[in-house]
Amino acid sequence: MQIRCQRCSFVFTLSHEALTTALEEIDKTPTRHYNIECPKCRRQIKVPVKQIRRFQPRQE
Ligand SMILES: [Zn+2]
Repeated sequence: MQIRCQRCSFVFTLSHEALTTALEEIDKTPTRHYNIECPKCRRQIKVPVKQIRRFQPRQE
């Protein structure tokens, strides 16, 4: 899943592992946005939960 920093426009990929962790956090604390830190400028990026769920790894 590609994330773009709103501050420095740095684009990075969120791993499946990080996505799974994010989803676990969201399930514990329902929220509309999940904060991810930009690896370049360290700003908190708000990612819509809907976007994360769309990229949820398939459970088979
Ligand atoms: Zn940034």
